[in-house]
Amino acid sequence: MNPHIKRLSYQRIGEFEDEFLSQYHTPTTLPIPIEQIAEKKLRLKVFEEMDLKKNYDIDAFLASDLRTIFIDFNLYMNFENRARFTIAHEIGHVILHGKLFQKFDINSVEMLGNMAAKITDEDYRWLEYQVYSFASHVLVPKQSLHDEIKKTHRKNPKDGDAGSIDTSNAGFAGSVSGVGRSNF
Ligand SMILES: [Zn+2]
Repeated sequence: MNPHIKRLSYQRIGEFEDEFLSQYHTPTTLPIPIEQIAEKKLRLKVFEEMDLKKNYDIDAFLASDLRTIFIDFNLYMNFENRARFTIAHEIGHVILHGKLFQKFDINSVEMLGNMAAKITDEDYRWLEYQVYSFASHVLVPKQSLHDEIKKTHRKNPKDGDAGSIDTSNAGFAGSVSGVGRSNF
């Protein structure tokens, strides 16, 4: 196993997300302006590359300068949610695996093979698992999810009768415990 690859638990990755958002996006409002955070706060350049997907079957990658995210032009222009998730994914590599990526020596799509030569498939899967978790934590942070649920809850009783207040209370408790279980 490569010594730079830590087996981070899902919970530990969640802590990285908390740190990340408290540093770069306060107060936490949805949707998280992920591209703005990338460019303004992290000084990353999101660079759209033509036919990255078509020619290489790659959505995006991070260059070893930790400054440039290359993203498929078509994905970026036409699939906003996937593009947001992809950018969050690459930010995850910067935050969690920056030192390792510097060693990969990747400056262009042709150089992605460098990575395969330097880590095992298993290590690669760990890296990917970690950044997928990071991206979902960052784009759907548990704190703002709680806030959204509270907001919805607060609105409901105003225009309802006593009966509907009881119903929404039950729904609220149900939602919160649901959030806890799924570890958002
Ligand atoms: Zn990745």
